[in-house]
Amino acid sequence: MFKNSARSGVRFAKKTIKDVDVSHKRVLLRVDYNVPVDKNNNITDDSRIRASLPTVRYLLEHNARVIICSHFGRPKGKIVESMRLAPEAKKLSELLVQPVQALKDCIGPEVENAVSKMNDRDVVLLENLRFYPQEEANDPVFAGSLANLADIYVDDAFGASHRSHASVTGVAQYLPAVAGLLMEKELTFLGRLLENPSRPFTAVMGGAKVSDKLGVIRNILDRVDALLIGGGMAANFLKAQGFNVGASLVETDKLDYAREMILKAHSQGVRLMLPEDVIVAEKLDGTVSSKVVAITEIPANQIIADIGPATAERFTQEIKKSKTVFWNGPMGVFEIEAFAFGTRRVAQAMAESQATTVVGGGSSAEAVQEMGLVNKLTHVSTGGGASLELLEGKELPGVAVLQNR
Ligand code: ADP
Ligand code: MG
Repeated sequence: MFKNSARSGVRFAKKTIKDVDVSHKRVLLRVDYNVPVDKNNNITDDSRIRASLPTVRYLLEHNARVIICSHFGRPKGKIVESMRLAPEAKKLSELLVQPVQALKDCIGPEVENAVSKMNDRDVVLLENLRFYPQEEANDPVFAGSLANLADIYVDDAFGASHRSHASVTGVAQYLPAVAGLLMEKELTFLGRLLENPSRPFTAVMGGAKVSDKLGVIRNILDRVDALLIGGGMAANFLKAQGFNVGASLVETDKLDYAREMILKAHSQGVRLMLPEDVIVAEKLDGTVSSKVVAITEIPANQIIADIGPATAERFTQEIKKSKTVFWNGPMGVFEIEAFAFGTRRVAQAMAESQATTVVGGGSSAEAVQEMGLVNKLTHVSTGGGASLELLEGKELPGVAVLQNR
C-alpha cells in the first residue's frame, strides 16, 4: 500500500543545521522570499519571511555568518529594479531587530568583498538570484560562484525545492548541504501524511482544474479513508458520473481520469464524496445573482461556483470525524464573497478539529491566512507547487541533494 515508503523514507533522514557545526562558518542560506507585494512594492504578506526566522535565529545564536539568498518574481534573467530584494532585507531586519545588509548583486567581486568583511552573527541578503539566467538554467559556474561565498549550504526554501535551479541543487555540488528548520518542518508534516497518518485520514481537494491535481489525487487515494471533492474540479467528477454540469468548465480529456479515480476509490474502500448541492451563477465575477441547486438540477447556462450548504455540512461532519485532515484547493471561487462560503466552512471545520490538520497549496493557504486561522491548524505549507509534488510521491530535487543523516 505505501508504495513510496522506501523512497520517501529518505526524506526524513536528511541532516539539518542541528547536525553540523555552523559556528564561525559562512552559511549560504537559501530561503523563499518570493512574497506578495502591492503596486508600490510594499510587502502585503510577510509570512514567508517570518517562516525563515527560526533558521536565521538558530544560525545567529550559533555564531554563524548568514548569507541569505532568494529569488523574487520572474525577472527572466535581467535586472528589474522593482524586483530587488531591498524591501525584504528591511523587513527581515525589523523582525530580527538587527541590521541586514542588502547587497546589490548575488555574485561577483563586490559581493565577495562584502562577505569577506562579515563578522560572526552578521546577516546579508544577496540580490535576487533570478537577475541571472544561470539561476534557472542551473549553470554550474554560477552555482560555483554562489558556493564560493560560503562554507556550508542550508536550504530552507521548501517552496523552491521542486526546482532544479543553481541555488537549490547546483550549490550542493560544491558545499555540504543540509536542511533548515522550515524545510525540516515541511517535510515532516507533509511526509507524515504519506507515511503514517492517524486514521481516519480525510483529504479535501478543490481548486480550479482537475488537471493540476492528477498526481496528488492518484497518490493520496492510496492513503486516505475519505476524499472530499469540491471546487471547479468537482464538475469533472460530476460529469464523469453522468450529471449535467451546465456551463461549468469541464476538461473533457480528463473524464476518463475522473472515472478511473472513482473506480480506484471504490476498489480501495475510500469514500469518495462529491457535492450533492452547489452554488451556481451565470458568470463567476460576482456581478450576477447566484443560487443553490441540487446537482441533478444544474441549469444549462449556469456554472458551478461553490459547493452548496448541504455539501458543506456533510464535509464538515466528515472533517469532524477525522484524525488527520489534508486540504488543498478552495471549494469555490473564494475570491468573490458570494462564492466563499464553502471554502470558509471547510477552513473553519479544520480549525475547530482536534485532528492533525495540514493545508497545502497557494490559494488554500491564502484563504486560511485571510481568515486568521493559521494558528489553529497543525501546519500550513509555505510551498504551493512543492507541497503538491511531494504529495504526488515525487522526489523533490532540492531535498534529494541534502546530506543524509
Ligand atoms: P491551490 O493554490 O490551493 O492549490 P488551485 O490553484 O488549484 O488551489 O485553485 C485555486 C483557484 O481555484 C482559485 O482561484 C479559485 O477561484 C478557483 N476555483 C475554485 N472553485 C472554482 C470553481 N467552481 N470554478 C472555477 N474556479 C474555481
Ligand atoms: Mg494555486
